[in-house]
Amino acid sequence: MKIDTLIVGFGIAGMNYSEQLRRRKKSFVVMAPSEKSASHMAAGIINPTVLKRFKPVWKAEEFLNYALPFYDELEALVQTNVIHLLPIHRILNSIQEQNEWGIAASVPPLDNYLNKELVTAKKHLGIVAPFAYGELIQTARVDNEVLLTLYQKKMIPDQFVEHKLNHQALEIHKEYIKYQDIQADKIVFCEGYQGIKNPYFNYLPLMGSKGEILVIECDTLNEEVIFKGPIFLSPMGEHKFWVGATFDRVDKTTQVTEIGKHWLLSKLNQFLKSPFQILQHKAQIRATVSDRRPLLGRHPRYDNVYVLNGLGTRGVLMSPLLSHWLFEFIEINQKLPPEADIKRFENKYFRN
Ligand SMILES: Cc1cc2nc3c(=O)[nH]c(=O)nc-3n(C[C@H](O)[C@H](O)[C@H](O)COP(=O)(O)OP(=O)(O)OC[C@H]3O[C@@H](n4cnc5c(N)ncnc54)[C@H](O)[C@@H]3O)c2cc1C
Repeated sequence: MKIDTLIVGFGIAGMNYSEQLRRRKKSFVVMAPSEKSASHMAAGIINPTVLKRFKPVWKAEEFLNYALPFYDELEALVQTNVIHLLPIHRILNSIQEQNEWGIAASVPPLDNYLNKELVTAKKHLGIVAPFAYGELIQTARVDNEVLLTLYQKKMIPDQFVEHKLNHQALEIHKEYIKYQDIQADKIVFCEGYQGIKNPYFNYLPLMGSKGEILVIECDTLNEEVIFKGPIFLSPMGEHKFWVGATFDRVDKTTQVTEIGKHWLLSKLNQFLKSPFQILQHKAQIRATVSDRRPLLGRHPRYDNVYVLNGLGTRGVLMSPLLSHWLFEFIEINQKLPPEADIKRFENKYFRN
């Protein structure tokens, strides 16, 4: 089979890159095993701010302006509600935090995202918030698991191959790449944290940060708001809530731990006073990068080998525009933003 692009990996990076190709009528195959990835387990929260530091994320406005209509279009394609525009209610812990919120909400660029008016402490039953809530707007939750499943079934049923690529069996030639019966002009690796095993890109500083989460059921909580206390409590529908997450840079397994569960419950119990039941406990690894910027671009030696990775903690917000940037870089030679371009690590490759 001769195609334009072979995409390796089907988390949100692989899905969003597939969509760039599908829209431009390029031929492609996406290859991934059936196992769940970080994308399936993420809360899917789109939040353009770093709340702890009262800062916008890198290129917040550009990412947000591209992502929101992109997910609307995906929602229309899969004919199911997958993006939920919900405010985040951040629990404030002191008068000082209230003042900091007021200041940040009054000046650009955060005035776009932070509501100056605090939300009263009594607003939500079952939540302890004596110093009221700061409200974040232009935030949302994407139901990644539903979106990935439906996109695969409805939009790319014939382009999807359930298979884990064996890097040793991949042939890279000057004019094409070959894998089993597939001959493609190029290959784009969207492997998330497992990219550390990719011999073409293992020089990149993919660090990895394990996150454990709980899914709980709570009948009395408001489902129209994402709560942010010491951790997130985010509605999933039908009285289920996503609770997370831990950050562990040492343990790189996807095993859940009692320590992780205990930590999550201790944080949750600080602000949730309604009875709840634990339904699930899960863990995955975020593909974080030493300089906290994505990994985008062309292999230093092979012109037809590309990567889209390093989405860190903001993959849902960033991957639509990153996949657009990568597409334009590959197909029409547009420049990548230098902060995201893997050229910044080229010295490491040639030193090895
Ligand atoms: C606990 C937790 C909470 C999070 N919450 C949020 C959030 O609220 N908002 C947000 O924006 N981000 C969040 N994230 C981060 C987000 O999950 C990631 O940024 C994003 O999912 C990364 O997507 P990806 O497609 O790059 O990687 P992944 O989702 O890891 O997908 C990688 C894909 O590549 C496949 N693959 C790997 N190797 C091979 C191979 N050799 N052959 C074939 N396929 C291969 C895998 O099977 C998988 O399909 C969270 C992450 C965690 C762990």
